[in-house]
Amino acid sequence: MSVLKINSLKKTYDNGTQALKGVDLTIKTGMYGLLGPNGAGKSTLMKTIATLQEPDEGTIFLNDLDVLKEKHEVRKILGFLPQEFDVYPKATAYELLNHLAVLKGVTDSGVRKETINVLLEKTNLIHAKNKHLGGFSGGMKQRFGIAQALIGNPQLLIVDEPTAGLDPEERFRFHNILSELGENIIVILSTHIVEDVTELCNSMAIINQGQVIIESHPENVLSNLKGKIWKKVIDKNQIDEIEKTFKVISSRMYMGKTMVHIWAETDPGNDFIHIEPDLEDAYFYYIHTNQLKV
Ligand code: ADP
Repeated sequence: MSVLKINSLKKTYDNGTQALKGVDLTIKTGMYGLLGPNGAGKSTLMKTIATLQEPDEGTIFLNDLDVLKEKHEVRKILGFLPQEFDVYPKATAYELLNHLAVLKGVTDSGVRKETINVLLEKTNLIHAKNKHLGGFSGGMKQRFGIAQALIGNPQLLIVDEPTAGLDPEERFRFHNILSELGENIIVILSTHIVEDVTELCNSMAIINQGQVIIESHPENVLSNLKGKIWKKVIDKNQIDEIEKTFKVISSRMYMGKTMVHIWAETDPGNDFIHIEPDLEDAYFYYIHTNQLKV
């Protein structure tokens, strides 16, 4: 079991944006979901853990390894799939993996060949081994991103906003690969898509405006809201009135009408129906109320 411990991490960019305002997280072997809206500070946090940028304050330890000081050691055991994985369109999958494996210190050509073939098998790309990356679909690029991140058997895999632009089948495949990895190593999945966390993660945190709002298991996050979420289908033009009276946590189109979810300690009346909270309710509740740790 590995443990990644992040303490009091702070980062202010040169333009004055406070991207991280003192982040504390404890992340153990398994799939960990870091959920937050755009601009929450997720990428800043991911890049900092991946030793690609410096924080102003704070510490990060992977077991006994001081991540911020021993960058070279960290890079040997780290896999990073950035938000945008710019592939070289003219290289083939094999060529680029070979190049990256050399950079990662896999010097023996026999070992390298074997490693690359295993990774291409694992990510279902063996058939595209000699194809140019420029012709890859979105899903293939993502899986290629995973393949390159896995060179050198990382103990820690960081995946930043991965499933944007994937069709359902590609997303399913990608999720399968991640959850298999999560059985043995720490996989941090940073995302603004609640479903990704619901489907994959056994631990999670919600981050907003550079702060961790809640860190827990998904079922604990939900249990705080049990019995307090209510729904109702309304006409679009009723929403203003509803918002004045109730604590609306989300509203969305539903068969041409609007479905509102509200938070209420007791039965709000008004034809609202009680529902079991899902992670999306929890996410909107915590983001909107910005209520600190419960
Ligand atoms: P997320 O990944 O959750 O969308 P980011 O970490 O990318 O969040 O950004 C957090 C905040 O920091 C945002 O307000 C963003 O505009 C700002 N930010 C990110 N990178 C930079 C940068 N290089 N310079 C200035 N501000 C930045």
